[in-house]
Amino acid sequence: MKILSGLNLKEIEEITDTLKASKFRARQIHNWIYLKSVKEIDDMTDLSVKFREELKQIATVTDVKIKVKQVSSDGTIKYLLEYPDGECVETVLMRFDNRANLTACVSSQIGCAVNCSFCATGKRGFIRNLTYKEILEQVLTIQRDTGLKVTNIVFMGQGEPLLNLDNVLKAMEIFNESFQIGARRITVSTSGIIPQMYKLAENDMQSTLAISLHAPNHTIRKQIMPIENKYDMSELKKAMKSYVNKTGRRITIEYLLIKDLNDTTESAKELAEYLSDIKCNINLIPYNPTAKNDYKRPSNNSIQKFKYLLEHSGKKVTVRLERGSDIDAACGQLKGRVDKENESADSKS
Ligand code: SAH
Ligand code: SF4
Repeated sequence: MKILSGLNLKEIEEITDTLKASKFRARQIHNWIYLKSVKEIDDMTDLSVKFREELKQIATVTDVKIKVKQVSSDGTIKYLLEYPDGECVETVLMRFDNRANLTACVSSQIGCAVNCSFCATGKRGFIRNLTYKEILEQVLTIQRDTGLKVTNIVFMGQGEPLLNLDNVLKAMEIFNESFQIGARRITVSTSGIIPQMYKLAENDMQSTLAISLHAPNHTIRKQIMPIENKYDMSELKKAMKSYVNKTGRRITIEYLLIKDLNDTTESAKELAEYLSDIKCNINLIPYNPTAKNDYKRPSNNSIQKFKYLLEHSGKKVTVRLERGSDIDAACGQLKGRVDKENESADSKS
């Protein structure tokens, strides 16, 4: 049985060829899958009943199941999806009331090998890469379930996208061509896998690169992100500069704020100094207490003070809106496990 989701136009044409149908039929099927997000072949109403019956003999829309769906009071929806091999992954739809944007936060791997100390996904270790089709399916599932069209994609779910770069690039290409989501509306977030950053720059996709920096210096970064031992902040700076030069795009710096660890006045000044010669915007992320550790979220006062100090250095600074915090759906909180309710109850008690 062929799975239609994830196929490009040429691959759908191969199917319509075997059924001796015209290329126009392939285009119709392609649009039903990507733009109209049908659940069943029978929903493709401009195909004849006879042709639909023939198609159903050899193809189906998807083989991914929604295992759990949670809707937050702010409209954020979190899905736990199950792939045919039984592995599960989380994906989140965020709505921002003030804009028409619908942002999907997608996962690129099951688990993650980078093992940052504050991250729930990292605690699971690495299980496997997702194929590009499995990445696309996350967005298709959201579209099929809500009947809405996703307009923006952020690779901020589970996994390190730059450690699965080929599949991520292929998925981005299809987001662009088949879903008609412009590259500028796609953000890839990385913990700083330097060789892959150079590779991504070569690709010149015009998408936004976000760097999870999270620390103002080598000592603090090493403490919370083991990747700093392999790719340190001075090399990271060179890679960021080269990315900006090559693509002309401004980088987004993500900075997780953890109480008393990296939220001090001294840290803000050191961070401003480190970033002074990099073309970037800064996104401050108040720590979401989910993983089993002693970290705490700073007070709103300290967050605002930190923001002010950075703004003073001339950068554009935003504080990430917390979406879906009542359902643990904020980015970076995704664990992809069915037993997660029990776990988070533990960590809150
Ligand atoms: N692996 C990539 C992308 C996925 S994580 C990366 O690390 O960039 C997406 C973002 O959520 C990252 O910036 C990550 O550091 C952040 N994050 C992880 N755990 C978090 C937590 N407990 N609270 C807030 N943000 C968290
Ligand atoms: Fe992996 Fe990103 Fe989590 Fe670090 S923050 S463990 S890189 S998913």
